[in-house]
Amino acid sequence: MTASQMKPPVITLTAGPVQGYPNVLQAMAKPLGYDYDPSFQAFYEETALKCAKAMRWPDPALILQAEPAVAIEAAAASLISKDDVVLNLASGVYGKGFGYWSARYHKDMVEIEVPYNDSISAAAVEQAFKDRPDISVVSVVHHDTPSGTINPIVEIGQVVKDYGALLLVDAVSSFAGMDIHPADCHADVFITGPGKCLGGTPGVTFVAVSEAAWRHMEDNPDSPRASILSYLDWKQAWNHKEPFPFTPSISEVGGLAEAIDHYMNEGPERVWRRHALTAAACRAGLTAMGCTLWPATEAIASPTTTAVCVPDGLTDTDIIATARDLFGVVLSLGRGDTLGKLLRIGHMGPTAEPIYATVAVTALGGALRKLGHKADVATGVEAASAVIAEGSG
Ligand SMILES: *Cc1c(COP(=O)(O)O)cnc(C)c1O
Repeated sequence: MTASQMKPPVITLTAGPVQGYPNVLQAMAKPLGYDYDPSFQAFYEETALKCAKAMRWPDPALILQAEPAVAIEAAAASLISKDDVVLNLASGVYGKGFGYWSARYHKDMVEIEVPYNDSISAAAVEQAFKDRPDISVVSVVHHDTPSGTINPIVEIGQVVKDYGALLLVDAVSSFAGMDIHPADCHADVFITGPGKCLGGTPGVTFVAVSEAAWRHMEDNPDSPRASILSYLDWKQAWNHKEPFPFTPSISEVGGLAEAIDHYMNEGPERVWRRHALTAAACRAGLTAMGCTLWPATEAIASPTTTAVCVPDGLTDTDIIATARDLFGVVLSLGRGDTLGKLLRIGHMGPTAEPIYATVAVTALGGALRKLGHKADVATGVEAASAVIAEGSG
């Protein structure tokens, strides 16, 4: 079957990229500005300032013209020098992956790895500094999306600050879905993008970079220049008087500005609340239906993605295909090391609406039943709906 012959999904509840808000998609369809026209340069500067305001960061955001995975690799290349000892925190696929990028640049690396249904404690980070006082850079993923688990980065960031190292945070799938900002966790490089909780598209990234991190990059003779991996090339690009090193992703920047406006106009607290409520309703519904949550404890379960174990005797791909066939609902598989072990329901941006918890329970439960597994869908929907009624009051 060709793509055009396939029935499109009715509702997409994936763990990102998400269906964008209609106004964001519309903003991206505007005629392209010429990047050297003063009106575009002013718009770009305003967008960098908007991103900074949303992040509660004093300096204009660095906007990079690629998906966040590229910006994270670029952070490794730009920040980490031959003299750096990196502490890599691996509680999931993205955390582990950063270590492979770091390995190209660092002098040495210490890694704390926990099972991918668990999170990393600040005490473990403190112990690592006691064992290796020469650690100079720490990398952590706030929400390791393939696991649906959250690391306590506010506490971890305090330890990193106390020991005087630089902290790099991947907040791609948590920022704007919960109460987290770069200063809250003393981040030196805080990376996020519009393609997850902001309800935009995945083609651009924005970053808060501290003065200490800029200094570290400037002092790093191997920090790339004239490269897709360069932070320094784009450092001044926010300023309307400075030229762009290369053509910016013009439509994506338009979408980013609109996504930030959407978030700020709705009000961050309200946005976080609907993410949290959707996830809580989803967890209640799935467990009432008889499913087992993937995170070791509910306390570390993400408010932006709910991960649930694949029931014994079934395969993840069969469940996903059945949910799509029967209900037109698209859910996410695991990824890398979590592939085959769990299923994920995203609550990000436009799908962080509590009613989607009942949709997820109905589609997942219905698929399980179709495949011969016992799932009490009615009890699940009732439990999800009770949480919504309580939380919305
Ligand atoms: C989505 C995501 C990214 C970015 O990955 P892309 O492949 O660029 O979409 C990075 N880190 C985390 C934790 C993510 O969820």
